[in-house]
Amino acid sequence: RPTELSPALDAVYRDALLRNPGETEFHQAVLEVLETLGPVFAERAELADARILERVLEPERQVMFRVPWTDDTGAVQVNRGFRVEFNSALGPFKGGLRFHPSVNLGIIKFLGFEQVFKNALTGLSIGGGKGGSDFDPKGRSDAEVMRFCQSFMTELHRHLGEHTDVPAGDIGVGGREIGFLFGQYRRITNRWEAGVLTGKGLGWGGSQARTEATGYGNVLFTAEMLKTRGEDLDGRQVVVSGSGNVAIYSVEKAQQLGANVVAVSDSAGYVVDDKGIDLALLQQVKEVDRGRISDYADRRGSAARYIEGGSVWDVPCDVALPSATQNELDGDAARTLVRNGVIAVSEGANMPTTHEGIEVLREAGVAFGPGKAANAGGVATSGLEMAQNAARESWTFARAEDRLTEIMQDIHTACFETAERYGAPGDYVLGANISGFERVADAMLAQGVI
Ligand code: GLU
Repeated sequence: RPTELSPALDAVYRDALLRNPGETEFHQAVLEVLETLGPVFAERAELADARILERVLEPERQVMFRVPWTDDTGAVQVNRGFRVEFNSALGPFKGGLRFHPSVNLGIIKFLGFEQVFKNALTGLSIGGGKGGSDFDPKGRSDAEVMRFCQSFMTELHRHLGEHTDVPAGDIGVGGREIGFLFGQYRRITNRWEAGVLTGKGLGWGGSQARTEATGYGNVLFTAEMLKTRGEDLDGRQVVVSGSGNVAIYSVEKAQQLGANVVAVSDSAGYVVDDKGIDLALLQQVKEVDRGRISDYADRRGSAARYIEGGSVWDVPCDVALPSATQNELDGDAARTLVRNGVIAVSEGANMPTTHEGIEVLREAGVAFGPGKAANAGGVATSGLEMAQNAARESWTFARAEDRLTEIMQDIHTACFETAERYGAPGDYVLGANISGFERVADAMLAQGVI
């Protein structure tokens, strides 16, 4: 496919750069989408006439706010909170909250922008948004995290609602934080409104399989990609980056499908475990003890090697699942993977592969699952949680996982068939972007200039 932008799309891109100065991750996400939309705009003049792209690139609403809180020493701390309500043509704004020191407006905007198309691909009635804070939970006590979450929600609650905006977790926000946020929302609003947050505990409105969903979904998507090539995961060497929620449940599902997962990582280093990652130990270290991946290596003994620093992509594998954070897999890493014979790369994290990394993999003919399709299982299961909350039901694990599997297969089919239709067979980036974009654009066209 041509990667050059047409003059019209180029003008839209330049305008986005000028209007959003310094927001490099947002620029990257926009360019990656615009590069694939040429054929749609060539075919459908009504989209340009209605200035759909210009409207899609501008969030419906952006909120930035002060989050003051008191740490355990009694000192006052101040963080910045964000919620970018990007697009609600298909349903209430939906997307996670990220608590990480790197968070800034550009990062939240790239995540919100990706979320719009990802959520459209699920086929559920959910719009796109994202939020978070530059708060660093690392080293903070439970009580500090609670006070931070309470302060964050004290401001954010006025923007939320089960029919308005429904946050969930992302990096740094898991079950503990969702609990504190839900408690404060309930107290302030005097409403037991289950559908206002997803990723809740199983005893108070959460959905079975939500915790597992992003990782499981990415492995299911990978299996679908391999199936089109007459391959499967059985006996394959798999490398997963990260060791958070997405990584852990990618390891579990890959192992269930017969793969040998040989490496996981965190921001300090990676561990190679030739006999296969010990899932129970990984869960104990990360989920119970909130430790580092070096602790896993220490406790695993001679079976595992810990490499401080370095790149987990140096570990030879058939399948790579980047599941840590944005831009963690660059051109050099992609070339190393290709040299070592990788056959599939699928994004568990949001935009983990750089622009150059994607080009290298595409030119080498590697099956590449872009995050907005491959990791949509998390938000899809959030959509299932909202449906259960609305009906005051709770499904069994098997029912939730069956629906997740069906949704991932449907997303794969939509991306695959769209790529075929536009003469780019196997190009899941193009398939996901066009298919997600058309669903949002068609809803916006039907709803008028709003
Ligand atoms: N943070 C996840 C994502 O990137 C999940 C969002 C949600 O469940 O709303 O899609």
